[in-house]
Amino acid sequence: MLPLLAIAQAFALELGPSLDGTVAVGAEIEAIAQDTGGAWGTCTDQSLRDGVQLPALPFFYSRIAPNDAWGTSTLVDLVVAAGRHMSWTMPRASPFAVGDLSRRFGGPSVGHISHRGGVDADIGLYREGGFQARNQFLDLAPSQVDLAATWELMRFFLDSGMVDFILLDRAHITRIKAFTLSQGLLTQEESARVFPVEGSREAWQSTGIVRHAAHHRDHMHVRVLCADGTRAGF
Ligand SMILES: [Zn+2]
Repeated sequence: MLPLLAIAQAFALELGPSLDGTVAVGAEIEAIAQDTGGAWGTCTDQSLRDGVQLPALPFFYSRIAPNDAWGTSTLVDLVVAAGRHMSWTMPRASPFAVGDLSRRFGGPSVGHISHRGGVDADIGLYREGGFQARNQFLDLAPSQVDLAATWELMRFFLDSGMVDFILLDRAHITRIKAFTLSQGLLTQEESARVFPVEGSREAWQSTGIVRHAAHHRDHMHVRVLCADGTRAGF
């Protein structure tokens, strides 16, 4: 058995001290491992083989740190496709800012515990008017978030079927969730699936979901699946 508790603690470290019970503890992670029938991992979140660098496509997005913008082809393709999608559906919105993916061959990444295997990307949020700053994240109060643009980007990621989870601050999640319901963009049932109750079993077993993490007021953290649809193993 892998040191699952250590992994849970490692995630807790990255996500900061004010987690108030939202990170899975060892027993929960073990339960997930059993429920997935050992389907963890034809790729790993510890190192990166055959990594691809996110190309410079300034009409789609800006790269904050190109040297730390390496990922699996699944992740890189998805970010490029998201940029293309946003420029097509919301042409007046700014190119979004892309923070760290992983280093060239993965492994420890400054300022992160994850981002080691090319399956994680930090992506900026839109301020009112579809605005994002070039090459930096904006620390936004919930009321400042452009809900339509930010949801459109999140929805594109989730609809790809290649996302394990998106991490975001709880206050942003609350507003985005309310927005999708009030606008009829999601049914109650869909909403419950995409935004599972914090700490619930679904929040850890399901893929394609959005959940809270501290220190995610200025960006969303997108974790993708492996190319064959399994979750990145440890
Ligand atoms: Zn991240």
